[in-house]
Amino acid sequence: MKTKILTYLRNTDEYLSGEQLSRQFQVSRTAVWKYMKQLREEGYEIESVPRKGYRLLKTADKVTASEILSQNKAQWVGQEIEYFESTDSTNNRIRSFAENGRKEGLLAVAEEQTGGKGRWGRNWVSPKGTGIWISLLLRPQIEPQKASMVTILAALALVKAIKRTIDLDVQIKWPNDVIINGKKVCGILTEMSAELEAIHYIIVGIGINANTEQFDEEIMDRATSIYLESGKKIKRAKLIVEFCQEFEQLYEIFIERGDLENVKEEYESCLINIGKTVKIIKNKQELIRKAIGINELGELIVEDDKGTRETVFSGEVSVRGLYGYV
Ligand code: ATP
Repeated sequence: MKTKILTYLRNTDEYLSGEQLSRQFQVSRTAVWKYMKQLREEGYEIESVPRKGYRLLKTADKVTASEILSQNKAQWVGQEIEYFESTDSTNNRIRSFAENGRKEGLLAVAEEQTGGKGRWGRNWVSPKGTGIWISLLLRPQIEPQKASMVTILAALALVKAIKRTIDLDVQIKWPNDVIINGKKVCGILTEMSAELEAIHYIIVGIGINANTEQFDEEIMDRATSIYLESGKKIKRAKLIVEFCQEFEQLYEIFIERGDLENVKEEYESCLINIGKTVKIIKNKQELIRKAIGINELGELIVEDDKGTRETVFSGEVSVRGLYGYV
């Protein structure tokens, strides 16, 4: 009900009287008043004028279910939300929900992660109040080998969502990092439960440094935020819904086609490594290659100094610039 009232307030510039709202939602006027009180306590500025009614003046930078649902126009991605003030990892939460049979599209959102994860057991710093820490549940009927393609789609959807939100040059470091000015602004951790032939579910975990003002010493050389790059604080829920909408579109086409052919060009146009010499790190071994692009499976095509091409698979390597992170 709170979400419905918030959506209604959001979509009108007029005053809405308590009577109108109670009729619309079939609740008492006291109940309407209580919901308004709750919303105010959450940080929404709601004007109330005698004989006119309520009007939403300012929304809060919240990532609660109501705040996201009242703006989300995607059909199914993020249409069910589980919100946590604090949790170890939203990927862990989605794993339990998935095991309990929850539907594709479920989004876990946390204000803070105490054990945020990167690839290969690395940690992902996820403090309170400034970032976006979300995980999405998917149940695609595709071969398990294709699961890594979902990471490619998520990275592209993030770039598009950020660009819709703010005017910044956003790039991708293959396969899973979103980069602004050479530093990492988002990371993606895709996890899967599968058998040989079939996927049970995929978890797409996303961390976005949205309004972060500063980073700890250990990551400050490679981490940045949308705020640090643009000087502007964004409304995090808005970026979440932009992502849901962009991802849903890309994912539906992918499921229909079964490959990445139609997004290849757009993804490559965002790729920071393209045409550059990169270091491919595999089992502590380093190979120096030129990055050419991706194929329809989302693998990175690289070339050695003799012009011989090969592809590398995201599950087994890390890519670095020759002299630094990118
Ligand atoms: P790879 O190229 O293999 O993906 P990566 O260093 O980008 O390497 P990830 O697993 O994607 O690794 O991310 C985890 C790493 O990101 C951590 O080891 C840390 O260096 C860095 N990191 C941790 N928290 C953040 C954050 N909030 N923002 C940016 N970078 C972070």
